[in-house]
Amino acid sequence: MKYFQPHSVEDALEIAQTAEATFLAGGTDLVLHMRTGKVQPSGIIDLGKVSVLREIKITDGFLNIGSMATFADLGKSELVLRNAYALWQACQTMGSPQIRNQATLGGNLGNCSPAADGLPPLLALGAEVHLMSAEKEEIVPLATLLGRTPLLGQETLIRGFCIPLKELKSGFAKLGRRRALAIARLSVAVALEVNENKVENVRVALGAVGRRAFLSESLSQVLSGQELNQEWLEKGVLEVQRIVREALGTRASAPYKRVAVSGVFREALESIITEGGIQA
Ligand SMILES: Cc1cc2nc3c(=O)[nH]c(=O)nc-3n(C[C@H](O)[C@H](O)[C@H](O)COP(=O)(O)OP(=O)(O)OC[C@H]3O[C@@H](n4cnc5c(N)ncnc54)[C@H](O)[C@@H]3O)c2cc1C
Repeated sequence: MKYFQPHSVEDALEIAQTAEATFLAGGTDLVLHMRTGKVQPSGIIDLGKVSVLREIKITDGFLNIGSMATFADLGKSELVLRNAYALWQACQTMGSPQIRNQATLGGNLGNCSPAADGLPPLLALGAEVHLMSAEKEEIVPLATLLGRTPLLGQETLIRGFCIPLKELKSGFAKLGRRRALAIARLSVAVALEVNENKVENVRVALGAVGRRAFLSESLSQVLSGQELNQEWLEKGVLEVQRIVREALGTRASAPYKRVAVSGVFREALESIITEGGIQA
């Protein structure tokens, strides 16, 4: 197998165009899949030396996160804590400390498991994905990208993620641990704007309920433009249960997840709602 270690994005793209090779980030998914024979790449492009891909910075009204930023990097970042709270929360509970040191946000999208912890927060926060190949460059909403099959061409590099700075309140919660409770995994991310106790532009994303994480249109409609109170919360709980029922149908995990999602949804809102009002 051929092994490449480019030092720049340009070199990585050129190699990807000319060699039949797969991008390697932290390897926590890819190496496992290579060991089990699920994938057998004829070449590897190790992105570990492309330091620009690890940057986390604010530019032009966006929080820009390079695809090689690890969950540990993100979980320690003040910029992420202040501007993308739901993502920051997801980074505290993803995997184990060793996995968080290795695993990248780009790899989380590249692998795109139904239970990928990074994706619901990014969806709720309205993130766009910066994609590049030697031929083409595009910035596409994550929600749109997740509708594509295949997700990416082999030569397409996830350059990074752009989260608009909108002073959103956001939160994330999940159920179950990957190894111990794989079937029961479920995650919810919520982001919303608050204007004088009215909630606007509510975005709720669910993980481990379908083939890929997704944003719920109906929850946005049911919950936006209303007062934030107990009635609002209960309306959300009923709707999120309906969505899970519809998405999972007769699957074995459906009865359990339908009940569990109510608790996970409430927990995701905990950082936004405090007793008697909204957190400052
Ligand atoms: C013990 C264990 C526990 C885990 N726990 C969790 C958990 O709690 N939550 C969770 O979400 N995940 C978990 N994972 C899965 C995994 O750690 C994540 O999906 C991780 O984010 C993958 O990132 P990586 O950098 O290791 O990607 P890699 O394994 O290097 O790559 C994954 C895929 O993405 C592609 N890719 C990577 N970077 C790019 C790029 N820049 N451009 C284009 N394609 C790219 C690769 O080609 C590959 O197909 C766990 C894994 C293990 C082994």
